[in-house]
Amino acid sequence: MKNLNLDSKELYFLPLGGSEQFGVNFNLYAHKGQWLAIDFGIGFADERYPGIDILLPDPQFLEDRRDDLAGLVVTHAHEDHVGALPYLWPRLKCPIWCTPFTASVLRRKFSESPECRDAVITEVNAGDKVKAGPFTMHFVHVAHSIPDTVAVVVETKAGRILHSGDWNLDPSPVINGPTDEKSIKEFGDRGIMAYIGDSTNAGVPGRSGSESDVEKGLTALFGEIEGRIAVTMFASNIGRLRSICRAARAHGRHVALVGRSLHSMSASARDCGYLGDVPPFLDFEDIDDLPPEKIVLAVTGSQGEARAALARIARGDYEGIKFRRGDTVVFSARPIPGNEAHINEVCNNLVDAGVRVVSWHSTHHKIHVSGHPCQDELADMYHWARPALVIPVHGERANLEAQADFARSCQIENVIVPRNGSVIRLSGRPEIVGEVETGLLAVEQRRVLPSDHVAIVERRKLQYTGTIHVTIVLDRRGDLAAPPQVSTMGLFDPDDKKDARVIADMKIECEDILEDLSRDQRASDTLVQEEVRIGMRRYINGLLNMKPKTTVHIVRI
Ligand SMILES: [Zn+2]
Ligand SMILES: [Zn+2]
Repeated sequence: MKNLNLDSKELYFLPLGGSEQFGVNFNLYAHKGQWLAIDFGIGFADERYPGIDILLPDPQFLEDRRDDLAGLVVTHAHEDHVGALPYLWPRLKCPIWCTPFTASVLRRKFSESPECRDAVITEVNAGDKVKAGPFTMHFVHVAHSIPDTVAVVVETKAGRILHSGDWNLDPSPVINGPTDEKSIKEFGDRGIMAYIGDSTNAGVPGRSGSESDVEKGLTALFGEIEGRIAVTMFASNIGRLRSICRAARAHGRHVALVGRSLHSMSASARDCGYLGDVPPFLDFEDIDDLPPEKIVLAVTGSQGEARAALARIARGDYEGIKFRRGDTVVFSARPIPGNEAHINEVCNNLVDAGVRVVSWHSTHHKIHVSGHPCQDELADMYHWARPALVIPVHGERANLEAQADFARSCQIENVIVPRNGSVIRLSGRPEIVGEVETGLLAVEQRRVLPSDHVAIVERRKLQYTGTIHVTIVLDRRGDLAAPPQVSTMGLFDPDDKKDARVIADMKIECEDILEDLSRDQRASDTLVQEEVRIGMRRYINGLLNMKPKTTVHIVRI
């Protein structure tokens, strides 16, 4: 990072993740030489990261300044806001503030990582005020698709900002109340310099709707289904789980949970006093004791995740549950962009087994609402908070630009669209004043790597090109002591006669290349390796128009 010269009297905003993609939300504020972090989430890796499921924001910038880090606020317990903590909190070791449900989820996660055992989590509630260094934080309740979500008003000597986190304006949520309009208006009266917030649905006109309508929709839909019902949804959507339970009860059905994350999320919900009006869930072992028309299964895996319960049941790979003709699977969630192919695969497996699939777009009943604000809700928020500046975050470039356009159409004085790494001065005349390096980390089973690590870059190439390995044994005089060995991966089938002949020809090509080199040239490993590598690649390129990754080993005896 070059020339980051911050004036300690001013207030700055610096997103290190989440402002160019969905996920990896990681936002910083700077004032009087100190930093405040808001959210620290994961992102899901796509096919550009073979072997990787999870991406993390690179915390290096903040780690280098951790002595000046006042702490970290987590707005809610969605993975894209909290998921990086178990991996990376040990590199920051800072105080954490979050609401009780988020704290419960986080403690469960931390209990599985020994390095996080000494983390201090301070529980706060909406309405609370906390001082951390030069920052005073006020927590404001907002409605979202997970309990106990808060927005944060950050107050400093340089001004007051509203960092929204994820929210919508559900007029009658089934868990917690609606977004706290009164508090936002009061802060608006006192003056909000900047609103920094959710762009997920900024391109969508209208309103996101209400979870209460989903309860009605599910109740009506269940009334039309005779056999066993399975509903898949986000495990953390406790409001949805309650809607499913109430819809089930309306038709004399009992609910069983299927999938680990549903068990842990519902345990956190019960810890926090939610789901009190919902009867105990049916034990998994008792499912077969009841007739199909008495059962609703709540199942994890609405995004088609290969290891989640739904995909496994659909593949016939889940002990204790088999879907069959007469069963109905209801998708009470929308695909996160990028997950469509996985979801389709699950649906096709279900349909193959004779299962009826109902998705949010294939029924006239309302069975899903988004937890993110659409345009009419953004307009209300701008109207309540009256910020002079709007900074769209939480989304891909198109989502951020959509909120920017919409904010301008709402006569917001100033709009700045950040990139990850943009250093934005919020006080005085707001502008981007610098840029810091950002990056992503990739989580493997046993290690965490930079996402541009050579191992991942090579793996990505190998997917498309295959490999050639050549071993050449040379004697003291530089002559071949044995025929060259050639093996390939991802190119040929060695058991196929024609392919085996190509590999044999490659060996002859190798011998020809060596023959064309002088004895002096053959004395150099580097030269021999390079000549053989180029020759082999040229050979395959001529044959297949592909440039495989080629390695050449030289053994001298
Ligand atoms: Zn989010
Ligand atoms: Zn969220």
